[in-house]
Amino acid sequence: MTFERHKTNKRVVQDLKSRSTFGIIFYILLSLIVVAAANLHERHLFFSISFLLSIWGICSFRLIHLAVSKKMGDRYETLNKNIFFASVIATGLIWGLTYALIMLQKQEYNAQMLMTVCICGLCAGGVVAFIPSRWLSILFNLSILMPAIMTMLVNSINIPLALMVTLFSIYMVLIAYRGNREYWDALENEYLLEIKSLEMARLSNTDVLTGIYNRRYFDKEFESEWKRSGRGNSMLSVILLDIDHFKRINDTFGHQAGDEYLKKTAETLTSVFKRDSDIVARYGGEEFIVLLPGINADHARQLAEEVRYKIKAMIIDYQGNKVGTTISSGIICCAPNLNTRPDSIISGADQALYMAKQGGRDRVAVFTSTHKSNDT
Ligand code: GH3
Ligand code: MG
Ligand code: MG
Repeated sequence: MTFERHKTNKRVVQDLKSRSTFGIIFYILLSLIVVAAANLHERHLFFSISFLLSIWGICSFRLIHLAVSKKMGDRYETLNKNIFFASVIATGLIWGLTYALIMLQKQEYNAQMLMTVCICGLCAGGVVAFIPSRWLSILFNLSILMPAIMTMLVNSINIPLALMVTLFSIYMVLIAYRGNREYWDALENEYLLEIKSLEMARLSNTDVLTGIYNRRYFDKEFESEWKRSGRGNSMLSVILLDIDHFKRINDTFGHQAGDEYLKKTAETLTSVFKRDSDIVARYGGEEFIVLLPGINADHARQLAEEVRYKIKAMIIDYQGNKVGTTISSGIICCAPNLNTRPDSIISGADQALYMAKQGGRDRVAVFTSTHKSNDT
């Protein structure tokens, strides 16, 4: 089973976006606290305004882009993904460069400490939020911490703090690696589980021998089609088909030959009833059933006759033996309503099939409301 790259890429970008939206609100609040708590605006008005406007600008851009890209859906998917990645890195750089500039201000010890706590918290939050993409997580970490680390090391400012922030950055890279692996393992497991449950659902609706639907699926669909046709006041036909003298095939050529014949019969049925809304199922043993929504009795009879003709002409080769027989069908057509029950329809088709068998087999019979059947 292959891990569908395209499908997962989309899911990963969606996860990244929803994980990062929360942080945007914090960026706005924290930028205000840093400036106000340290009274930065009183001493560095231009710097404070530039910082606040940059943070609010990038945050607004990201919120608008999130809404716009959501509206665009799948269009410009790669472009939107790149814009999202670039805006995340830009956010990290704005914080990172501001932190570096504050570290250069010798008199701003209070602002430096506020910013250090703030930056470490934002870095940890960002790294965890961007874990679905290892590279985004690492690049965010570097963009928010590296400018200050480099500034401190180059200018010999607070070296212990620089070393501590460096260790913190390395620790965050390790977290990103580990978290990313766990995220992808979980995603792959979720994907495999989805495939498995779809496969299970398909198998539980399929007849193992012929590969067409089984009785369980038919019963389920019949119930809902019954209601749908009732609401829409439309006709519904059901054909019950039974292979004639099938036991003889088993007795003469063996059970395997019988199995082959059943498979070919199923193929013939699906070649005749090919509308998307037609449901062809194996009803049990050598009996098949067909649900034809929106088809009246005459049309159903035509189709059943086509099947009868094709089955009569169908001679299969089994280990050098020519194996063939005929098929009988019972049809019922009705307009579902509250006064009729779905099981009475199946019993009507069964009665019509019985009449076809009684009439000499290799024939089609239609159940009529007078509870008698018309043979052909
Ligand atoms: P009729 O024309 O009255 O329908 O006669 P028939 O022989 O077709 O019907 P009968 O009910 O006497 O026999 C049906 C046979 O179908 C008996 C059973 O062993 C066989 N059968 C049921 N399921 C399978 C299957 O999956 N594979 C095979 N090979 N035979 C099956
Ligand atoms: Mg039978
Ligand atoms: Mg039979």
